[in-house]
Amino acid sequence: MFQRNTDIDRRSRLIAPGRGGDGPVVYWLSREQRADDNWSLLFAQQEALDRQRPLVVVFCLVTDYPEATLRHYHFMLTGLVELQQKLAGLGIVLQLLEGSPERLLPPFLADTGAHLLVSDFDPLRIKQGWKKQLRPRLSLPWHEVDGHNIIPAWVTSEKREYAAYTIRPKINRLLDSYLTDFPKLVPHPYPSAVAATPLDLKTLCARVKDRRSGPVSWLQSGEKAAAGAVATALVQRLPGYADRRNNPCLPGQSGLSPYLHFGQFSAQRLAKTVAAGNLPPESRDAFLEELVVRRELADNYCLYEPEYDTFAAFPSWARNTLHSHRLDPRPYLYSPASLEQAETHDPLWNRCQQDLLTVGKLHGYLRMYWAKQILLWSREPEEALATAISLNDRYSLDGRDPNGYAGIAWSIGGVHDRAWPERPVFGKIRSMTASGCRRKFPVDLYIQSPRETALSLF
Ligand SMILES: Cc1cc2nc3c(=O)[nH]c(=O)nc-3n(C[C@H](O)[C@H](O)[C@H](O)COP(=O)(O)OP(=O)(O)OC[C@H]3O[C@@H](n4cnc5c(N)ncnc54)[C@H](O)[C@@H]3O)c2cc1C
Repeated sequence: MFQRNTDIDRRSRLIAPGRGGDGPVVYWLSREQRADDNWSLLFAQQEALDRQRPLVVVFCLVTDYPEATLRHYHFMLTGLVELQQKLAGLGIVLQLLEGSPERLLPPFLADTGAHLLVSDFDPLRIKQGWKKQLRPRLSLPWHEVDGHNIIPAWVTSEKREYAAYTIRPKINRLLDSYLTDFPKLVPHPYPSAVAATPLDLKTLCARVKDRRSGPVSWLQSGEKAAAGAVATALVQRLPGYADRRNNPCLPGQSGLSPYLHFGQFSAQRLAKTVAAGNLPPESRDAFLEELVVRRELADNYCLYEPEYDTFAAFPSWARNTLHSHRLDPRPYLYSPASLEQAETHDPLWNRCQQDLLTVGKLHGYLRMYWAKQILLWSREPEEALATAISLNDRYSLDGRDPNGYAGIAWSIGGVHDRAWPERPVFGKIRSMTASGCRRKFPVDLYIQSPRETALSLF
């Protein structure tokens, strides 16, 4: 009898019961774009082995995903080309469908006689919307697996958490039990009748509609490159994380967010490696706080706050204070278009925006400064929020991520933060100033540094 691994099972939940066909187990992959250390794929393979069926992985390519540009598609598709080859070596087909999942999955599942469906967990509205529309169109059993968080988001908490200090004890209570070793994906013994078309990067990129930002060349995409970047970060960046991470002139942060965003590297694998490694304890603990607590808090925010990208999601103290400072004169007023073009009076802010435009990433410390100045220079907080989200999503390689929505809501709307002494425009929202940045790091050095330097620091 097949021996099930219960550590795999507890990362999943049944989201729709049903009766499937005689065909393969289908894993609809979206957020976890990797073969290694992927709970969703492991769960799908376990189901397929248990039922002695083929395993098919399907990816739905939506070429007009909101704010996703050629920069993001090129990175993602490069990774998917590698993934298709890697899975083929294990006897697992990766089939790409061009179009939206709620339209394309029902006929695909019907044509293949799919037995069971497995999908990734993702709290973002668009992904939840696809699933909502899909549900009445399917009649097979459907499981969702959280391969993104170490502890499944619905297990950690059943409600929107107020701040890091409220979710931290919940995570810490469960962490040891969930921070386990990954089982191995095995060569799949039941061949599939589905024949996958080999992915062609050039052809697929040609179909991308939004070309406002182009591919980056400084960061290689794919699981292999991600593993290399992790190894480098462990040796060269993370030992100094505690002291250096707030200095954009030093390589103090991991630089791994694009890989984590596209699921090309498992956060659980990274956390396990860091926890067991020999980093100085302050750096290890500070990094795990960001990677585990802050990151899982961001997923919690988007999961339980459907309006996560609007003013309505801000806590009441923040909404009240922003309301009462609505009419405060702004020291400078810039349109979203001027901000996008980095045309402000502030060389530090302009450099941040230029890094977003050309590099496709902004240092974590500067992201806070960047977003808070948008609040200060916009007509109203709602406009500031919309501008920050759209610029971050459009230009940052790791954009369109719960971390981004939570980070911007923290910066502009006090989400997961507390009230601070009152100031014009900000009210009680924590402010950041250029002079404050000067006390933290050599601002002029950052502004004058060649763009290539940014590449080795972010
Ligand atoms: C205004 C603003 C916008 C942001 N937009 C994004 C975004 O679009 N995508 C994104 O992934 N992160 C975003 N963040 C969170 C954070 O700044 C980035 O995760 C970090 O800069 C990524 O670089 P790194 O991987 O070198 O970070 P490291 O400091 O090395 O952290 C490692 C990982 O921990 C997680 N992490 C770190 N800081 C945070 C945080 N504050 N909240 C949640 N998770 C965190 C990320 O997954 C990150 O990759 C934003 C923060 C702010 C204030």
